[in-house]
Amino acid sequence: MLVQASLRVDLYEANPSIGRKFLVAGKGGLNLTHSEPLEQFLTRYGARRPQLEPLLKEFGPEQVRQWAGELGIQTFVGTSGRVFPVGMKTAPLLHAWLARLRTAGVTFHPRHAWLGWNPDGSLRFATPVGEISVQSQAVILALGGGSWPQTGSTGAWVPLLTERGIPVNPFQPANCGFDVAWTEHFRTRFAGHPLKAVVLSFTDSLGHAFHQQGEFIITDTGVEGSLIYACSAPLRDELVATGQAVIHLDLAPGWTPARLLERLARPRGSKSISSHLERSVGLKGVKAGLLWEFVPKADFADPEKLVQAIKDLPVPLVAARSLEEAISSAGGLDFAALDEHLMLRAIPGVFCAGEMLDWEAPTGGYLLTACFASGRAAGLGAIEWLRRAGF
Ligand SMILES: Cc1cc2nc3c(=O)[nH]c(=O)nc-3n(C[C@H](O)[C@H](O)[C@H](O)COP(=O)(O)OP(=O)(O)OC[C@H]3O[C@@H](n4cnc5c(N)ncnc54)[C@H](O)[C@@H]3O)c2cc1C
Repeated sequence: MLVQASLRVDLYEANPSIGRKFLVAGKGGLNLTHSEPLEQFLTRYGARRPQLEPLLKEFGPEQVRQWAGELGIQTFVGTSGRVFPVGMKTAPLLHAWLARLRTAGVTFHPRHAWLGWNPDGSLRFATPVGEISVQSQAVILALGGGSWPQTGSTGAWVPLLTERGIPVNPFQPANCGFDVAWTEHFRTRFAGHPLKAVVLSFTDSLGHAFHQQGEFIITDTGVEGSLIYACSAPLRDELVATGQAVIHLDLAPGWTPARLLERLARPRGSKSISSHLERSVGLKGVKAGLLWEFVPKADFADPEKLVQAIKDLPVPLVAARSLEEAISSAGGLDFAALDEHLMLRAIPGVFCAGEMLDWEAPTGGYLLTACFASGRAAGLGAIEWLRRAGF
């Protein structure tokens, strides 16, 4: 936006290279955005929809795909409706993006860590040759959240803003895994196993319900993966509020309880319970392992109790995994500190964008899309502000 408006742009980055987290995000296939209707897309931002909706209506899923296309990277819609670059590679998109910015006149300054402001309002940077000061007519901060700090998003910017009275809400893990107190037996047998085609239900203590089919992975310490991430915000909040959160799993979504009961009540003869479960209703491996983990042994002899467990298995979660491990962070710069152009009310001429703002969304391309949308809005806000200020 800024170079298109013929402004001189300098980009400062603490890392030796630009876009480290963008590259990390692409490791499993960069999920740029989502193809669902915009109305549904906007609901993914929950309580922050009012703040993000105007930005996403200007630059949403369609525009993200168009932007990638203009950079020579076509996109496709995966089976889940998620949008990826053709070839699933991130580096070509990042390289094309940076090359276009460079050609347009953006100057990149890697290894420049922003340290705050000097008393005269200039910006302080730590560089390999010592501290430098930079005068600038407008500033856009896009410093990231607090997850995966090894990528550079360390949240070290927080005190630089709070010491100027700007409200920043504490970071919390978002799209994170959870600890479960697995027995040693279950952990050693099933850590790393995916749990496919299950329905996860969760109702918090205020009565808000989550109910979705999907898949996730058993880890050494608990559970993680797309279905868990999708429900991670209410689970995290419930753990913080009450100290406990219990998810309920339907391990056989395609089966009615009556059909399960009919099959399981058939005489099993000399077959073990495990092989009866596998042969009569197809439950084996990690799904059967979960039943043995949480269902009292005596209940396996009672088909009705077994059906109840298969359709509605309670799995207690102990704690959310740490912010450092999470895909993204909740919390950050409070929107109350910003005007509608994402300018800090307390420091005119300073705009903020991306994950450093206090919003959260599930995985599915919603994170990058809102980062792009807010970056664009901050850029346009800066252009407008500079024009008004007569620069
Ligand atoms: C494993 C993983 C997978 C993900 N997958 C997806 C996905 O498929 N789809 C999706 O939509 N989202 C995904 N995300 C989330 C997405 O990557 C982030 O939401 C997005 O990168 C945030 O962009 P940002 O520009 O706001 O911040 P960041 O990408 O975190 O960039 C902030 C930059 O600011 C720099 N910086 C910080 N402080 C300073 C300072 N003081 N001075 C100078 N520079 C500084 C940092 O070094 C960093 O390069 C994933 C994240 C992770 C960790």
